[in-house]
Order: sequence, then structure tokens, then C-alpha cells
Amino acid sequence: MSRNQQLFDRAKLRIPGGVNSPVRAFGSVGGTPRFIVRATGPYVWDADDQRFIDYVGSWGPAILGHAHPEVVSAVQEAATGGLSFGAPTAGEVDLAEEICRLVPSIEQVRLVSSGTEATMSAIRLARGYTGRDTIVKFEGCYHGHSDSLLVKAGSGLLTFGTPSSGGVPQDFTKHTLVLEYNNVEQLQRTFEEIGETIACVILEPFAGNMNLVKPSEAFVHALRALTAQHGAVLIYDEVMTGFRVDLHCAQHLHGITPDMTTLGKVVGGGMPLAAFGGRTDIMACIAPLGPVYQAGTLSGNPLAVAAGLTTLRLIQRPGFHAELSKRTARLAQGISSAARAAGVPMCADSVGGMFGLYMAERVPASFAEVSACDVAAFRRFFHGMLEKGVYLAPSAFEAGFVSDAHSDSLIEETISLAAAVLASL
Ligand SMILES: *Cc1c(COP(=O)(O)O)cnc(C)c1O
Repeated sequence: MSRNQQLFDRAKLRIPGGVNSPVRAFGSVGGTPRFIVRATGPYVWDADDQRFIDYVGSWGPAILGHAHPEVVSAVQEAATGGLSFGAPTAGEVDLAEEICRLVPSIEQVRLVSSGTEATMSAIRLARGYTGRDTIVKFEGCYHGHSDSLLVKAGSGLLTFGTPSSGGVPQDFTKHTLVLEYNNVEQLQRTFEEIGETIACVILEPFAGNMNLVKPSEAFVHALRALTAQHGAVLIYDEVMTGFRVDLHCAQHLHGITPDMTTLGKVVGGGMPLAAFGGRTDIMACIAPLGPVYQAGTLSGNPLAVAAGLTTLRLIQRPGFHAELSKRTARLAQGISSAARAAGVPMCADSVGGMFGLYMAERVPASFAEVSACDVAAFRRFFHGMLEKGVYLAPSAFEAGFVSDAHSDSLIEETISLAAAVLASL
């Protein structure tokens, strides 16, 4: 029996489903999850010592590739000086300054330990600031697993969401309205009818948790105009897109200034660190300055701050994002062409260092379109690639990630492997 299988069997006895986050269990693609023992640059090795070209990158943080020597040594140095103090440190000030400099809409920022915490806190703050209860999210967007965000759309316009998870009381989701991504008309009608009750709208500026779905320009501009007009807080959830699609995040690509932004993944450089920030007048409502409570024992952890700060410095190398975007676009285009040559209805898209693979003729623009993709075909493609040493996200509904360590030749190698798999499907 493979070591991966042995570990999975042991894990399932003591960890529910054998994993500490559900998608890792390979539930939607089937088979045995690979237990990773080490990683460097673009590669990960599993417990059977098989090497994979990794396009998950810890779901986004590994933008420099795995175990970048400068990031690792910054963490080692920080560790030597003590693991956690529960008191402020100079590194936190440096990181806060760096974030505000790179993302000008963030005038003040607070560090937390996960994206879930960042979005949950941002929403509480938006409610505290506006004195309103209703929040708006879009179908297919994921903003972490806090109760009021685990919601699926109700039936019909202006019916509030119902819980999409067990353990979430109906009462906790009755203030969450779920609208359709890219539907400008529905957004306008909603604001006309209940605009004055909306505390905030939270958006994945390029959706990456229903595979990659891009917003239309009309959609993001309508969103900014309507929220401003009705005094609702616009929250860009850039936990995934932040520092990955552009050095100055998705908001820079959109030409939009949100009121608040949440960050995670890349900002922690692979350590548990996330952040929320925005306008000073909004941030002034949070404890200890204001009445909205938020706190964290390990918030601003010195090891995580060292990893994040070093990562943010390294991605400022001139041309970093242009090169990353170009290689990621080449990967998407190469796989699309290979699919066409093989007669497989599959296409791909990308933004910055993030890509989507779709088992469909056309790139989807909504949750409904993504849901119509051929999941069984993805499963065959996924396992074909895995066998050839390419580790893709084990789900048809996740984005993929390219790092600075994925060279042009590695991208070409991946395209050739994909062509071989597609030809055999
Ligand atoms: C990953 C993600 C989160 C949740 O972050 P965690 O660190 O997993 O809690 C929230 N929002 C978006 C857009 C994400 O991609």
C-alpha cells in the first residue's frame, strides 16, 4: 500500500475525513490525497517521494514558489527572537506601512490570522460604522466560513439567504442577501428598493472560489457608484487576489477605490496572517478606538509578519507581476489550444498569477455557468495530470496558481503533459 494511503487511513481515524480543510480530501475528484512531505520552488513531493509541479501553491500564498530562501531565513531569524509576545512589535508597524503604501485605499490596517477572521471582522466593522444590518454577497463567492457568510441564495429577488451549512441558524443568515455575480440590473433594482438598509457589499474582485470568474467593467463600476450613493461600505475581499493579480491588487486593475479591503494568502507569505483595512473614519470604529470589538491572541505574530513582509518586498522586483501574468496567460492559452486540438470541450482563462480551467466551450461569467461545467471530464483530466506529475487543485471549482518559480520551460512542459492527457481522454 502506498504511504499516502497509509497516512490517509491513519488520518481518517483521528481527523474527520482525514484532513484539516475539506477540499484536501479529494472528495470531488476521488482517489487518495497526496500527503506532502516537502516543497521547494514550483515542486512538491508526496509521502511516496513522487514529485509534482504544483499549481495549488498552498491555495495562493506561495507566489514566490515554495520555501523561498529569503522568506525561510526571515522566519528563522524571527523565531530565534521569540515566537509570540502578545504585545506590539516593530515588524507589525513595518508591515502595516508596506500594505498601506502598496494599496492606497487602505489608510489603516489591522492584522489577523486568517482570511475568515479578516472578512468576518470587516463585516462587523461595516455594520458598526453604518448602523445597518443587511449585507450583500454574490453567489459563488467565498469569504471564509463565518456564520453569516455561509449562505445560498433565496428563491427570487430580495428573498434573503438560507444557510448553506449545517449548524448555522436561519436567524444568522436572514440579514444576508445573495445576488448574482455580474448581474448589473439585479444590483440596481436591489439598491433602489433597499439601498438605505445595506451596511456593506462584499465582493471577490476576481472570483476564485467558484473556479476563476471575471467581473465585467460595468458590474464593478455600478457596484462602486451604488454603494457610494446609498452610504453602503464596499468591501473588496482580496484575500485571494491581493498581491497576486497585481502588485496593487485587483482594485488597481479595476480602477476602483473600495472603502475596505481584506487580505490574506500572499500577505502572509505562507504563514497564518491576514488583514483588513480601509478608510480611517471606518477603521476608527474598531476597538480600542471605537465600539466595534475585535481581538486576537496571535494577531500580528512575529514569524508570520516576517514571512509577509519579506514576501511583499520580494514581489516588488521590477517586472515581477508582468512576467507572472505572461507565464500564467501562456499556460491558460496553451492548455486551451491543446484541448481544441484534442477536440475536448475545455477552455481556460487567467488574470495575473491566477488561472481557471473550465470543462466547457466558453469561459463562464456566473455561478450558474460554472456549475454547468462537466465535472466528470475534469476528474479524468485531473487524474491524468496527477499521474504525469502535475498537481492541480482537486476540484473543478477552484482557481489555479502560478508562482515566480514556474519558469517558461516548466510552463511549456506542463502544456505538453496536458496535451498528452487531453489526447487520451
Ligand atoms: C481563502 C479565502 C478566504 C478565507 O481565508 P482563510 O484564510 O482560508 O480563512 C476568504 N476570502 C477569499 C476570497 C478567499 O479566497
